Amino acid sequence: MVNCGSSSLKVGVFEVGKTAIEVFKASYEKFEAGSCSYKITRGGKTETGEAAFGDIAAALRALPHILRGHRVTELDAVGHRVVHGGKKFRTTTILDQPTIEAIKTLTPLAPLHNPANLLAVHIAQEVWPNLPQVAVFDTAFHSTIPPRATTYAVPKAWRDAGLRRFGFHGTSHKYVAIRAAEEIGAPLRDLQIVSVHLGNGASVCAVSRGESLDTSMGMTPLEGLVMGTRSGDVDPGLFGFLSRQLGMSIDEIEDALYSNSGLLSLTNSSDMRSVEDRAAKGDANAQLAIEIYAYRTRKYIGAYAAAMGGLDAVVFTGGIGENSPSMRRRICDGLEFMGLQIDHERNQSVELADNAAPQIQAYGAKVRVIVTETAEQLMIARETAAALAPKAPVPQPVSVAVSARHVHLSRPAVEALFGTGYQLTPAVPLRQPGQWAASERVTLEGPKGRLERVAILGPERPGTQIEISRTDGFALGIDAPVRDSGKLDGTPTVRLIGPAGSLETGGLIVAARHIHTNPDDAERLGLADGMLVDVHIGDEERGLVFGKTLIRVGAGAVTEMHIDTDEANAADIRVNGEGSLVPDLRAVAVPSREA
Ligand code: ADP
Repeated sequence: MVNCGSSSLKVGVFEVGKTAIEVFKASYEKFEAGSCSYKITRGGKTETGEAAFGDIAAALRALPHILRGHRVTELDAVGHRVVHGGKKFRTTTILDQPTIEAIKTLTPLAPLHNPANLLAVHIAQEVWPNLPQVAVFDTAFHSTIPPRATTYAVPKAWRDAGLRRFGFHGTSHKYVAIRAAEEIGAPLRDLQIVSVHLGNGASVCAVSRGESLDTSMGMTPLEGLVMGTRSGDVDPGLFGFLSRQLGMSIDEIEDALYSNSGLLSLTNSSDMRSVEDRAAKGDANAQLAIEIYAYRTRKYIGAYAAAMGGLDAVVFTGGIGENSPSMRRRICDGLEFMGLQIDHERNQSVELADNAAPQIQAYGAKVRVIVTETAEQLMIARETAAALAPKAPVPQPVSVAVSARHVHLSRPAVEALFGTGYQLTPAVPLRQPGQWAASERVTLEGPKGRLERVAILGPERPGTQIEISRTDGFALGIDAPVRDSGKLDGTPTVRLIGPAGSLETGGLIVAARHIHTNPDDAERLGLADGMLVDVHIGDEERGLVFGKTLIRVGAGAVTEMHIDTDEANAADIRVNGEGSLVPDLRAVAVPSREA
């Protein structure tokens, strides 16, 4: 993989199989006057020194020769880090000429980074004309952030021109979330994680059930945390003030916010190690900088716990997150009220060799705190290999059932709504064995309105669950989260009204689309429990591919996909229909063995 920035070049060669092993690593930086410094690691040995490359292009052109010199041959593909994928590139993408042209059009969004990334693509095509080239975008992981978090409240014409939150460090946030889930031993899909990447650039990401829900960097990598030389959050009113009071131009202000702000402006050093050293010696500016840095980071952790409605783990990474126990402690101190408390000894003795991800929370603390080295290069190599893996060519048919809004009731709920000892009356059997629709109905009531005569599905369950569509959520005036059945922690409440009484109960969800199947069909279709697949539903005119459809394998289940009425309307299908399953198309096994 090639990570080509504006002033440095990093290269890693990985053998990607079930695991990914880095067999060669090189970095080149400080290009000036016909030379640069370099560091190469191969076979456990590291060499450093000066190389006769005056710019990044020269170093790139020499790569095949350098690799041969280290007996690294037989490359299969080149994966490139591309910082900005805009709205268009939501996943890792194989590079052909039209794709490269499309990335070029995104240059105004990342004027420093994207041209450097594309230079690497261009030279790689020249020196390895027969190898496939793949782009892995920093922004792609954040393509799941909902409009409420990507949209700035600014004039429509600005938004139409492309102004919105994109977020960066996506490859790092994705990797550390996967690594944390692995360490915790739970599927990523069940976890609410705040990933805290503190390097020269710094950002926080709310990784909710495996997807980015919000992140602190915005349209550019300037928003959010205090960074080495970048300001992070400021009042946009400063543009007018500085222009009027100091006569500064927009370019001057922007340049200062990127290059002469953050730790550098507060302390004269952008390097946290030196800031911490000076603070320890009593430098008041360095002390204040550390306080601001920790405070801003802590605020984001609290905000994202609120945004996700829960928090299972905070993961620290990046040079500062990995190496500064005192900064980790400052950030976490004071968050005990939300179950987050670190163990000072564990925090002090973190060892990160060999992809370790030690947990440093206090014994009994509700929220895990994990430290791990980020591995963007490894992730780029893995994503590149996955993008080039052979795809299953033959779509398999699967029947599709449309679930209208319905409830599953617990015993106490049945009694509250219909009276003590009441038994629901099975009226219509459903396709899944043992399940039925009852002849009774209930009313749902929210702050905005009511939904009458909602179906009840039996048999009773331990927990009451109410499944509505997004449209129903607007009718009720309640924002229900998209969830897998049974994952009800932190879900909003709604009032259920029956003939004998009413109750306010949690468990209101928009059911995540899923496919029920049994072990035999799963094997025949190449599916496994927890896998996410794409399914095409509908005709040629209005049909859609529904991504991220969860496979649920259960003994005796009838193979059938369940979607809600909004999804059915979007694909223009009525009650039931047929879809075609494309099992290997970007299928991801959820139990997080990816890293
Ligand atoms: P980049 O974002 O450029 O990849 P890094 O992730 O390497 O940067 O992070 C660099 C930052 O990490 C610098 O501010 C550096 O001072 C800080 N850092 C590295 N080691 C330590 C340490 N032991 N204590 C405090 N800060 C550290």
